[in-house]
Amino acid sequence: YKLAWNGGWLVAVPPENTSRTCPCCGHVSADNRQTQARFVCVECSFEENADVVGAINVLRAGHARFACEVSGAAMPPAAGTHRSDSGAAQCRA
Ligand SMILES: [Zn+2]
Repeated sequence: YKLAWNGGWLVAVPPENTSRTCPCCGHVSADNRQTQARFVCVECSFEENADVVGAINVLRAGHARFACEVSGAAMPPAAGTHRSDSGAAQCRA
């Protein structure tokens, strides 16, 4: 219904690891989630609200899938949340 209000694109994203992947260095670990609300990367110490981290990862995965649909490239199996993503500069703690 929010698309009806605001317009936009709906891209379905597989949720695997979106709450456990560090948006800064790409490290995937359940240990990154020390509490329900807090994300702290055990690899690079990046720290953020867990919901914000999930949103960043889902957005990146959506962009990656959408880009692949447009270009006709093969779908990446890992939802496009790995360390080669640009935007790492914004999360240096
Ligand atoms: Zn990290």
